[in-house]
Amino acid sequence: TSRAGAALLQRALDHAHAQLADQTSGAVANYIPALAAMPPDLFGLAALTRGGTLVEVGDSRHPFTIQSVSKPFAYALALDLLGRRVVRQGVGVQPVGDPFNSIELNPQTRRPFNPMINAGAIAVAGLLTEALGDQAFESLRARLSLAAGATLMLDEEVYRSEAETGDRNRAIAYLLRAAGTFHCHPDRVVDTYFRQCALRVTARDLAVMGGTLAAIGTNPLTGAEVFGVDAVRDTLAVMFTCGFYDGAGDWACRVGLPAKSGVGGGIVAVVNRQLGIGTFSPRLDAHGNPLRGMRACELLSEDLGLHAFDAT
Ligand code: GLN
Repeated sequence: TSRAGAALLQRALDHAHAQLADQTSGAVANYIPALAAMPPDLFGLAALTRGGTLVEVGDSRHPFTIQSVSKPFAYALALDLLGRRVVRQGVGVQPVGDPFNSIELNPQTRRPFNPMINAGAIAVAGLLTEALGDQAFESLRARLSLAAGATLMLDEEVYRSEAETGDRNRAIAYLLRAAGTFHCHPDRVVDTYFRQCALRVTARDLAVMGGTLAAIGTNPLTGAEVFGVDAVRDTLAVMFTCGFYDGAGDWACRVGLPAKSGVGGGIVAVVNRQLGIGTFSPRLDAHGNPLRGMRACELLSEDLGLHAFDAT
């Protein structure tokens, strides 16, 4: 990226940040106290080009838990380790207009609709736990850390409260074992999943992780080869069609980028072969998607012409 390119990108980020500075709609996730305690006004944006230029604005280095933004990366890891055939037996790639925590399998296939909702992500955690045993979480942590170019730490408090209150997720894991998705104990599977969701990241980390997907699996900052080409391709496709739960279609039209949100306030968005974007804004809409982060992605997409189906 040229100096001019970096300046243009910085200006677009600054502009989006300034434009949304006084937006206060939505509410911080409050299903556990550790999330409810997050200061609601934090707002950070970061972007990393494939050439390794990183720009950031606002609270881009404030830590929060990755939550559902981990799902595409766990899916990519499973595809890399187990192959597409095995992973597809456990989870589909079908968009579904249900909330993220819906306890439902595709009635035709008896597997979760897609890996971006909880049921699908827990199926992925199950496949990884079955294959790797007690090493599943450490493998996830190691691979996500490579993608971020930083060692991601577990937020013990969030992990503990997720485990204490996660009965819906536990119910999903039991349902999946009954459906034959995996055979190891459901409690071990949700333990992998709760830990995965409680990894701490920043908007900057998410920009680097998105940049790694944008660069077809190679971290643009460190040069590490993190994910294989086939895994990245499938992952971006499900992010594009399923990344925003019941708001996915709207997102595809308005923003036109593969992306994933999390209730911790993070969003990762990917401009294929060009750019990773990370946003952090704790206030969520009714679907559990971070409001200012979504709006920032939309502004950046308009401003820089990032929509996948832009004419120019
Ligand atoms: N840990 C949360 C859950 O499983 C993650 C959900 C999310 O970020 N949407 O309920």
